[in-house]
Amino acid sequence: MRRQGRRRFSSFIRAVVRSLRLRLVLSSAPPGLRFHFVEVAVLVAYLFAHSTLSPRSQLFGPAFIHGDRKGDMVALTFDDGPNEPYTGQILNILKARGVKATFFVIGENALQFPDAVRREAAEGMEIGNHSYNHGSMVRARNATIDWQINQTQEVIQRLVGFEPIWFRPPHGFRDVRLFSKTRHDDLAVVEWSNMPRDWTRPGADVIVERTLRRLKPGDIILLHDGDNVYVGGDRSQTVAALPRIIDGIQARGLRCVTLSELAARGGRGLRDYRRIEEKEEREPKGRP
Ligand SMILES: [Zn+2]
Repeated sequence: MRRQGRRRFSSFIRAVVRSLRLRLVLSSAPPGLRFHFVEVAVLVAYLFAHSTLSPRSQLFGPAFIHGDRKGDMVALTFDDGPNEPYTGQILNILKARGVKATFFVIGENALQFPDAVRREAAEGMEIGNHSYNHGSMVRARNATIDWQINQTQEVIQRLVGFEPIWFRPPHGFRDVRLFSKTRHDDLAVVEWSNMPRDWTRPGADVIVERTLRRLKPGDIILLHDGDNVYVGGDRSQTVAALPRIIDGIQARGLRCVTLSELAARGGRGLRDYRRIEEKEEREPKGRP
């Protein structure tokens, strides 16, 4: 991996040197042309960074970012698990309140806590793929992207008897190669619209306040029951915040549903999801 990193770094340096040479060539060009080159380069760099990093961008491919803004549903999603005791505590809260949510599990963590994944499925939660070890999908080789997704699909299939249809890339970062993989595998990419940044552990009160202040119908709320692949990563603040988040959602007349229930009523970034649904109707795979 380190050797790969060095190779990537040296190709980056070569690209910089090439662009410096190009700048030298362009410095002999008329000033007007030079000005446009800089503008266009900045614009292209910005567009690339935005499409890769921003949860809202649809440029590289459709990513589900929110459901129907006029509906009465939101989706709670929990990333990076399973991770006990927090996953179990979250499931207890959801069960006690009759609320459904979606868990984006990491393959490696699923092997660590297989019972938690089985419990998620048994209690009607939706399960999504969040890569095998939370490695970046943007700087990875194609073979690594394949491996991250395939391994996790296999682990989940083995544990609960079906493969997820949702993939959430680690950190939400994505590029065109990810979409060609997910499209090929009948996976729909999902990002989020409400992110209280619970992973920074700002305190349960702040997590509740951030979530509810910006809450809108159709929101996909991003929370965490795990912390990357670290076993035991502290999610006690998220657990403490959850009952009040659910109360706040329900006080506004909104219901917490799984991602697929939210998507069934429409939203933004659902082109691949719709294609998968149509295909499933023609040739059912036995997903729940
Ligand atoms: Zn994550």
